[in-house]
Amino acid sequence: MGVPMVAVPRASLLLGGTRHFLQSPMNIHEYQAKELFAKYGVASPAGRVAASAAEAVAAANELGGAGLVVKAQVHAGGRGKGTFKNGFKGGVHLVNDAAQAGEIAGQMLGQTLVTHQTGPEGKLVSKVLIAKSVDIEKELYFAILFDRSNSTHSVIASTEGGMNIEEVAEKTPEKITKVVVHPTLGLQPYQCRKIAAALGLRGKLLNPAVRLFSSLWNLYLRCDCSLVEVNPLAVTTEGEVVALDAKFNFDDNALYRQKDVVAMRDTSEEDPREVAASEFGLNYIGLDGNIACLVNGAGLAMATMDIIKLHGGEPANFLDVGGGASKEQVSNAFKIILGDPNVKGILVNIFGGIMDCNVIAEGIVAAVQEVGLSLPLVVRLEGNNVEAGKKTLAESGLNVISGDDLSDAAGKIVKAIAA
Ligand code: GDP
Ligand code: MN
Repeated sequence: MGVPMVAVPRASLLLGGTRHFLQSPMNIHEYQAKELFAKYGVASPAGRVAASAAEAVAAANELGGAGLVVKAQVHAGGRGKGTFKNGFKGGVHLVNDAAQAGEIAGQMLGQTLVTHQTGPEGKLVSKVLIAKSVDIEKELYFAILFDRSNSTHSVIASTEGGMNIEEVAEKTPEKITKVVVHPTLGLQPYQCRKIAAALGLRGKLLNPAVRLFSSLWNLYLRCDCSLVEVNPLAVTTEGEVVALDAKFNFDDNALYRQKDVVAMRDTSEEDPREVAASEFGLNYIGLDGNIACLVNGAGLAMATMDIIKLHGGEPANFLDVGGGASKEQVSNAFKIILGDPNVKGILVNIFGGIMDCNVIAEGIVAAVQEVGLSLPLVVRLEGNNVEAGKKTLAESGLNVISGDDLSDAAGKIVKAIAA
């Protein structure tokens, strides 16, 4: 329904769990994932990050100067099959010497890479990973993720690596193995062996595979991840099992105790509106519609989005100022909304239980005095100190359309935009 379907770790859709989050989960780059792999003993080819062609040459030389791979670092998958906006093909290239590494890095850096996960706007590449390349015998898939439907964590593994796991799930579900991890015992050695067997990792591949799975579980648990996806997990012609790519998501509620992880955050990869909102302690998620919502409480925010849709409108965002927001927070929230060019109208829907309605009103007036307002604004205020709030708005001279209740307000903003 109208629930925001944003930032869902793609693989979690396979588990059929809850499909919405109140925040986009934190993500890291592949070169940073490699640092975590090294720390936790997860086998993965050595690599170095580079921000210029010269750095790429130096990194390539450090790694032995031959048999290397250059990979664009963006928070999105599908890089191998992606295309840069300047026409350069592929965000993953095998190279044979340092000069070539520098050349390819030069083609990628400062350019925008479009993949099936970035959307048509693409993502700017400001760093590349130079890594030792391996000769691949077989590509597999391995992921550990939070499994809401079982209230624990699960492993998803498949013999079909290097491709879209959703596609595998749809066309050949028998090629996917799922193992539910006991919430307190963790991933057990027998489970690792079972997964290895399902992936065809037998003989001398068995022990390295079990070691990799346990190390990855350890890393997942210690770093409070909500998703670690290795695609591909590669079997090399040398008979090794290595993680060749990695996608991480972290549990936002645990970030306070993950200082090292937070230090890896790259805000240039995130929605600038969400970054600004998080600086002010606001819960904000950008959406595709044109009606901005300023609401207190996540439940009311979702109900507001639903009712906007019911009236034929589309929400531009999910913004929850919370129960104890200050005038400054409300004013900043309003400015973030006004700074979004897609927004064509604003709906403020406040039910003041803890929240003082007048604080909301003062925050709105302060923001508008600073940056102006040319869009229709519908306000529905109810609850704590509502009369003072209405008075503040009335005396401000702002052109406010007042909504009687939730449905009335939603209908009015949809109509105001259509007019
Ligand atoms: P993604 O396209 O963003 O998922 O990036 P990946 O890191 O998964 O790379 C895409 C594909 O490039 C992989 O599926 C592999 O087929 C190939 N690839 C990546 N690293 C290597 C490597 O070290 N050696 C070889 N031969 N192929 C690689
Ligand atoms: Mn991949």
